[in-house]
Amino acid sequence: MNDCIFCKICNKELSSDIIYEDEYCVCFSDINPQAKTHLLFVPKVHISSISEMEDGHELIVAHLIKIARNVAKDLKLPGYKLHIAVNKEGGQTVFHIHLHLLSHY
Ligand code: 5GP
Ligand code: ZN
Repeated sequence: MNDCIFCKICNKELSSDIIYEDEYCVCFSDINPQAKTHLLFVPKVHISSISEMEDGHELIVAHLIKIARNVAKDLKLPGYKLHIAVNKEGGQTVFHIHLHLLSHY
């Protein structure tokens, strides 16, 4: 997707402070943090929204959750919230699936 911000971050066409990366996803800090720790977990494949998932994409979304858990453990966060906004009506503003991790720690 040419004009997708998160594809550009995944492809390193746009800079971000990538905290974690593997074959399937990247993790970086939210540009407009809503908590002391506010990270985004983004799949490298462009899927616009949870509402647009196709068969097999559940593995990618599960991977995001697992990596969020691992990064939170590495950062020694005692607790956090994970959320995914779905569609404009659900508060989604970037139309490439992403998992938010928010923590007061
Ligand atoms: P949404 O509202 O779709 O659930 O979340 C999109 C998030 O992406 C927002 O929290 C917003 O601050 C963040 N964001 C938007 N553009 C950029 C960017 O260019 N870089 C980073 N690091 N975060 C971004
Ligand atoms: Zn994208």
